[in-house]
Amino acid sequence: MFIGPPGSGKGSLARLCQEKWGWENLSTGDLCRQHIADKTEIGKHIDFALKSGILVSDELITDMVAKWLASLADDVNATIMDGYPRTVEQARLFNELIRNNIRSLTLKIVKFFINDKVIINRLSHRYICENTSCQTVYSTAKDSPFAPRVVMMCDKCSSHLIQRKDDQPHAIKERLKIYHEHAKDLIDFYLNNGYSVVEINGEKTLQQVFEEFKKVMCLNGV
Ligand code: ADP
Repeated sequence: MFIGPPGSGKGSLARLCQEKWGWENLSTGDLCRQHIADKTEIGKHIDFALKSGILVSDELITDMVAKWLASLADDVNATIMDGYPRTVEQARLFNELIRNNIRSLTLKIVKFFINDKVIINRLSHRYICENTSCQTVYSTAKDSPFAPRVVMMCDKCSSHLIQRKDDQPHAIKERLKIYHEHAKDLIDFYLNNGYSVVEINGEKTLQQVFEEFKKVMCLNGV
């Protein structure tokens, strides 16, 4: 379970673990954007929240997570939850969900820490692939290792790159505010329920973050 502010590198690390080890990767943000692109009823309902950087309701997002988990094959060995749960209520709902539906599960919580100024700089240079079944993330920052090979075009599927509406300055501020409102209580919820929380410095390069992740999770031999 990755807990961290927007732009702290949760999604990048999740995708790397998916590529390297075939882990499943649940990004509730990606799921929401997919609904909006597909113009589903849920998509129409959550469009405004996504644009403005506010949270979708705890029940609705948990319902999406439940459906996604139910669609997983039985032999999945690891799943990253990127961006869920984000509130104590979601954490409670998730606990109920796994208690009722999943027989054996070890939950590991990874918290990303990073300075808000670094985040604002990162997000204002972030572009994503407009193809919602791809959504690969790029950066237009000078000398970034995440630059696309061809300007404003996705390396993987050649679709155009777009800026997320919630990567505009006012929405970034709102998302950071919301993150800070919930993060401490969320972490306390897990600590008070006997889980340990490991921390990762999200300001480092992706490779360094990956190495740190392997170390704190004791995955060095993997
Ligand atoms: P970020 O974490 O960088 O803000 P995400 O792509 O994870 O971006 O999420 C984008 C948006 O999707 C959020 O601002 C929110 O509107 C919605 N969303 C994603 N996950 C959740 C969640 N767990 N609870 C409520 N809303 C969510």
